[in-house]
Amino acid sequence: MAKIGINIKQGKIELPKVIVGIDLGTTNSLIAYVPNSEKSDVCGVESIKREPRIIPVRGQGLVPSVVYFDEHGSPSVGHYAKSKIAQEPERTIFSVKRLLGKSYKDLADKADYVGYKIIDSDSTSEAMVKIEIDGKFYNPIELSFLILKEIKTQAEKELSVHIEQAVITVPAYFNDSQRQATRDAGKLAGLDVLRIINEPTAASIAYGIAEKKSGNVLVYDLGGGTFDVSILTLEEGVFEVLATHGNTYLGGDDLDRSIAEFWLKKHQLTSNQLSKTELQMLRMIAEEAKIYLSQDEIWGHAEAQFEQVFQCVNINLTLTLSVSELQNTVAPLIGETLKSVHKALSDAELKPDQIDEVVLVGGSTRYPGVMQALMPIFPHVFINNRINPDEVVALGAAIEADVLAGNRSDVLLLDVTPLSLGIETAGGLMDVLIPRNSKIPTRLAREYTTSVDGQVNLKVSVFQGERELVGENRKLGEFILKGIPAMPAWLPKIQIQFALNPDGILKVAAKELRSGVEQEVEIQPTYGLTDSQVEEMLLAGFQNAQSDIELRLNQETINEGNQMVYTAERFIEKNGQHLSAEEIAGSKQRIEDLRCLLNDKADRNSINKQIELLNDYTRPFAERVMDIAIGQALKGKTLD
Ligand code: AMP
Repeated sequence: MAKIGINIKQGKIELPKVIVGIDLGTTNSLIAYVPNSEKSDVCGVESIKREPRIIPVRGQGLVPSVVYFDEHGSPSVGHYAKSKIAQEPERTIFSVKRLLGKSYKDLADKADYVGYKIIDSDSTSEAMVKIEIDGKFYNPIELSFLILKEIKTQAEKELSVHIEQAVITVPAYFNDSQRQATRDAGKLAGLDVLRIINEPTAASIAYGIAEKKSGNVLVYDLGGGTFDVSILTLEEGVFEVLATHGNTYLGGDDLDRSIAEFWLKKHQLTSNQLSKTELQMLRMIAEEAKIYLSQDEIWGHAEAQFEQVFQCVNINLTLTLSVSELQNTVAPLIGETLKSVHKALSDAELKPDQIDEVVLVGGSTRYPGVMQALMPIFPHVFINNRINPDEVVALGAAIEADVLAGNRSDVLLLDVTPLSLGIETAGGLMDVLIPRNSKIPTRLAREYTTSVDGQVNLKVSVFQGERELVGENRKLGEFILKGIPAMPAWLPKIQIQFALNPDGILKVAAKELRSGVEQEVEIQPTYGLTDSQVEEMLLAGFQNAQSDIELRLNQETINEGNQMVYTAERFIEKNGQHLSAEEIAGSKQRIEDLRCLLNDKADRNSINKQIELLNDYTRPFAERVMDIAIGQALKGKTLD
């Protein structure tokens, strides 16, 4: 098996000038790197300091994770895009990370929270959501790609280097598909994503905790819009996530909102009496008050006060807030975060005194009430808040990148898989289960289903390589899962599990979960592969990354279209008696139009548009049929 760093050092791939760490955040994103040998003089002894640094993007460290599309569909990212949130909400996409790897079903109750249009492409599908702007469709991978591309190209300009490899961070609770989506976004931006690491792990690395080799770390991350707490255990310098808990809709914005509400109440006003702009301005003043009172020299004085006159509903309001009023107002929110801390501790089966380090991440941990609330729970530990909480994750990712570049001899090298391992899915796509550079041993399972009614056999073909289409990768083997009970398409639940043991043997197991039918094979992925062949495969993956991803996105849209045709046809077949002749004809026409586009291999946007048309047309019928079914079920109940 390859060791991290060896491929990079000895490979034929041209050495990139720098490998970066990227924090692709919900509110802001940052990029950092470790500059080459900087000599420093410590007590007369010359040593080489390898300190990570944030790379400024257009002169600023923080890049708002916001994408704006102008009327010609041309995108901008960052501060300019952020300034468009209020002016052109339907064209300005923020909080992209919340959409990543999520289906419409996951987001249905949150769709009102944003000003842009989230598309319900197919209510039965688990496919990722799409955003529609001026008749064009974007998925969260493409949006994250735009953010990454902006960061990458601007950082390249700033440092006058090529950036080709990166470590990207994700929240610890991100599932496999969200991690894969992040990887794909990086690939699309021309980045070879060497590692996806957890944000709390990156923060711990930035504090040098990894060097301690063992212990338990609690990472408390309170940002602008999200909160999460993670408990990690460190063994031999390797972190493992024991538990995570949090609230993806709780952050500094909510502290601001509660202060604004406090003022409204004090002045006997309700939010309905204020215009949207006035309300927005009130929240901005609330944030100003919070930040002002959070300063060390002010915080110590309970009676210290913020004061500002604000003209709204045609009167002048004098807004005042003392430190103690601030504390009382936001206490319930901080209390919520503490509940998560205790929940994470109990999930990890740890007592507070078993935590060796606490690390603070996220801009809102600058509110001193956070530290004040945590200290009594962890009186025995020093709470790490020395590093800028906005930057700590990106800085940690940069250190990890430096390790992968082979620049740090003090860090343990782990066995890793040199090439990605996956299976073939509809349309000849490679679905990666174990990404390259994963440390071994490792085990991963994912669920699949059938696409044809009554399918009783399923071929599982196992491939290795970095290309998006299996035809370009190396086939390792295949087997047939036989004896699946005949069921309608998309009903069987087939779990495929990849387990790579320390000797590099891959065990692939397939199991139909409803019936328990299972089958297993053993494969040795590196058998017969020379180092130079591995390098060639890596290089091919890297050189074709962008066109490959395009192919993949197109194929996924085709797969979604096929599924939509199938589901809509079955629906009409089964429920024809509840539809008028005109409705049936209208649906059939739209299904036919979609089928033609699929057969003609039309472009992604046209297929997406037709999926949406068909979906919008049939949705009221589906709801009607559902109401009838519920009505019948209820009738059945009363008769009993
Ligand atoms: P992040 O998403 O990590 O960039 O955090 C942004 C949040 O941090 C916003 O809600 C800010 O109001 C909050 N924040 C930034 N600076 C301070 C400060 N000095 N005191 C309290 N909250 C702050």
